[in-house]
Amino acid sequence: MKIGLIDVDGHNFPNLALMKISAWHKARGDDVEWWDGFGQYDRVYMSKVFDETYSPDMPEPLNATEVIKGGTGYGLDNKLPDEIEHVYPDYFLYPDLTKDTAYGFLTRGCPRGCHFCIVAEKEGRRSCHVAELSEWWSGQKNIVLLDPNLLACPDHMRLLQQLIDSGAYVDFTQGLDCRLLTPENIAAINRVKLKQIHFAWDYMKESAAVLRGLNLYRELATRKIHSMYATVYTLVNYDTTMDENLYRIYTLRDLGYDPYVMIYDKPHAPQEIRDLQRWCNNRLIFKAEPDFSKYSQKKWAEKEEVPEQIGLFGEDGMKLSMLPHGGMNNYDRVMCMTPEKLAEFLKKVECRPPWDDAFVKACCYKCKTETVTMTDEPKRTLEVHPCDFADGECPHGSDIAWWLAQRCADNKEVEK
Ligand code: SF4
Repeated sequence: MKIGLIDVDGHNFPNLALMKISAWHKARGDDVEWWDGFGQYDRVYMSKVFDETYSPDMPEPLNATEVIKGGTGYGLDNKLPDEIEHVYPDYFLYPDLTKDTAYGFLTRGCPRGCHFCIVAEKEGRRSCHVAELSEWWSGQKNIVLLDPNLLACPDHMRLLQQLIDSGAYVDFTQGLDCRLLTPENIAAINRVKLKQIHFAWDYMKESAAVLRGLNLYRELATRKIHSMYATVYTLVNYDTTMDENLYRIYTLRDLGYDPYVMIYDKPHAPQEIRDLQRWCNNRLIFKAEPDFSKYSQKKWAEKEEVPEQIGLFGEDGMKLSMLPHGGMNNYDRVMCMTPEKLAEFLKKVECRPPWDDAFVKACCYKCKTETVTMTDEPKRTLEVHPCDFADGECPHGSDIAWWLAQRCADNKEVEK
């Protein structure tokens, strides 16, 4: 069989389901490749993790006898069959992202049932052991653990021991439930080689339990990462006021944790919430200006000017006044390009994301002209762009990294 794979979200994070599907088919002797528009396929798998807000769907391919869609982005009721779920992933699908790194789950599900979270509905309201580490790790130097609530699993001490025994650097990327920390499990975490550890403080009503756990961890943790105990996801724009957001951020900082703002329903979040995220999540600015009330993005907004035509956009006749932002951001500029200009542009920036220097120099008018001089902790003087304040998101408009990555494929067609 000839199998085509489509990672609808782009190729910015390894898609575990596609890696398992690929491994399973290859073990049966099938040909597996990333789907392209020119071949003919017996079956195409489309996988989509994010919903429409963050990851637009794409049309079903016409050059396939059968198309199978799966992933949270297509609904919560689809799962991999057991025989595929438990195969060793085909990490070769994402060679750069999985270099010496294994990704996977030891447990699934969560008893908490937070209203903003899909885990309980999708995976069940219990944290259950689903795999041994050896199922998806075979000696890689790094482990990215995707478990939603490892500490809620009755088996978690045994599973932590597997992580200790691996000797690999572990990133608890989805967060450990700090309300479930005990002296015993902290002692085990102390013996894991930590690459990154995250906790969360989402609801104000959970504050007492969260602070109990964070204080216990402070007392017993034997290591810090970048001089902080851990990163703490801080949900905003859900059911907290700005005062409550700031209370959590300042409290975490005072306790020696790194607060990391996560915005619920980001596309519809007010500007103040976006400013809060930009201020808090960028370490440089968070240190330089510890008081949110003094931080103002106005200095960027006030300097908003209509950009000059630089020959890379607007050539299909779209007028600046037609654009929704009252000016052009990187997304607008790319969208205005003719296919030929787009091909030329992508070649120039090699599909780098919009906050990347090459992109900035080639396209973003404001980033190109605005710089700020800052002094960081070791007293180095740095010249930074506004984009540097946004932790990977173009502050002048939509995050087009995903979009650009998709257009790279189109670009190749244009070049042909
Ligand atoms: S504790 Fe975390 S994983 Fe569990 S429901 Fe809440 S947000 Fe989701």
